[in-house]
Amino acid sequence: MILGKYSFGLGDRFGHQGKAQLEAVAKAKEQGLDITPVWNKSHREHTIIGTRPGDVRREADDAVGTCEWEGAYFVDADHIGLGNVDEFIESSDFFTLDVADFIATRSVEAKVNSFVAKHKKYIGAPAIAGIAERLEISEEQIRATAGKFLLAVRQAGKIYRHIEAVKGEGEFVTEVSMDETDEPQTPVEMLFILAAIADEGIPAQTIAPKFTGRFNKGVDYVGDVALFAKEFEETIAIVAFAVEEFGLPPELKLSVHSGSDKFSIYGPIREALRKFDAGLHVKTAGTTWLEELIGLAMAGGDGLAIAKQVYAEALLRIDELCGPYETVIDIDKGKLPSVQEVEKWDGQRFAAALRHNQACEQYDPNFRQLLHVGYKVAAEMGHSFTDALREYEDVIGRNVVDNIYERHIKPIFVEGSAG
Ligand SMILES: [Zn+2]
Repeated sequence: MILGKYSFGLGDRFGHQGKAQLEAVAKAKEQGLDITPVWNKSHREHTIIGTRPGDVRREADDAVGTCEWEGAYFVDADHIGLGNVDEFIESSDFFTLDVADFIATRSVEAKVNSFVAKHKKYIGAPAIAGIAERLEISEEQIRATAGKFLLAVRQAGKIYRHIEAVKGEGEFVTEVSMDETDEPQTPVEMLFILAAIADEGIPAQTIAPKFTGRFNKGVDYVGDVALFAKEFEETIAIVAFAVEEFGLPPELKLSVHSGSDKFSIYGPIREALRKFDAGLHVKTAGTTWLEELIGLAMAGGDGLAIAKQVYAEALLRIDELCGPYETVIDIDKGKLPSVQEVEKWDGQRFAAALRHNQACEQYDPNFRQLLHVGYKVAAEMGHSFTDALREYEDVIGRNVVDNIYERHIKPIFVEGSAG
């Protein structure tokens, strides 16, 4: 099972927008751009919303059937570990092995020594196509990388083999993710992480590093764009080099997590893909849920009332809702509009505050981030929320398609800038 060169991870908290999401990918296809849709949902999301992995499979199959989509598509068990992979095995054919928690644990000395001995030919400044300023590699760096990452990669191997024993070799796509950690991995570290992945026999098709800068949920990239661009290019070059050197799958490509709404780095990403003729997986999760709220607000009436109710409740429970996302949001609480103020807004005003259009004066990143993590409130509303999603399906769907196609697919894979 091979993931295409370009693929897009579609998150859908409540599982109602599969068709609209697929429509955005189909729109790209009409323009001659082949993107493989992947529906992803993590254990954390399932737990908060009360859905099961089988629900995502049903949603994907339904969307594909209704839209008569003939291309490949996948269902991604996102950020799973040995403790929760079992419930995902049957319904998923894409597995994101999250081993970030094992990075802190040092590997034993003997394993580190044999890794260093095996890979010491890279000490010096090896020529890597596409990297102008050669990377200096010391024995110390290899040793440090092995100490830091070998155990995590071994853990990925354990999860991979656990899945393979049930599904069979070649019957699923494997991603290794290390993005949910404190420090970004350097290009040199990536080289040896990939060596370790090859040593471990994991046929990874995507790898999700933590990149430099902040990838806050639902808002633009925060950080040094030029530095990001440089490291992103170097990492793509490293991936291509590692495929040749270590015999990793030729499809291996980078996966960008929390990839939604990172408008200021889409240009550099697009240029790097062109320059290296490289593939990419972009994972998005919560951006569609915000389009549901925008659609409800624009529908007016009880749609707008529900959107306002979600905000009022979210503001009341801000600490509880932000807790699980503490490291990936930056909300200036003092700047959040009061419930009384929002109560006066009409649907257009609510939508303008929430919609990610940085050129719009009414756009409010604090408001947007709070609602991004506020989906738990909507989940607790149960049927009154999901019934509204059905009632206002048309206006919501239009926003979902537009958001994915115009603000994401186009600037990442085609051209132009958004935001
Ligand atoms: Zn991630």
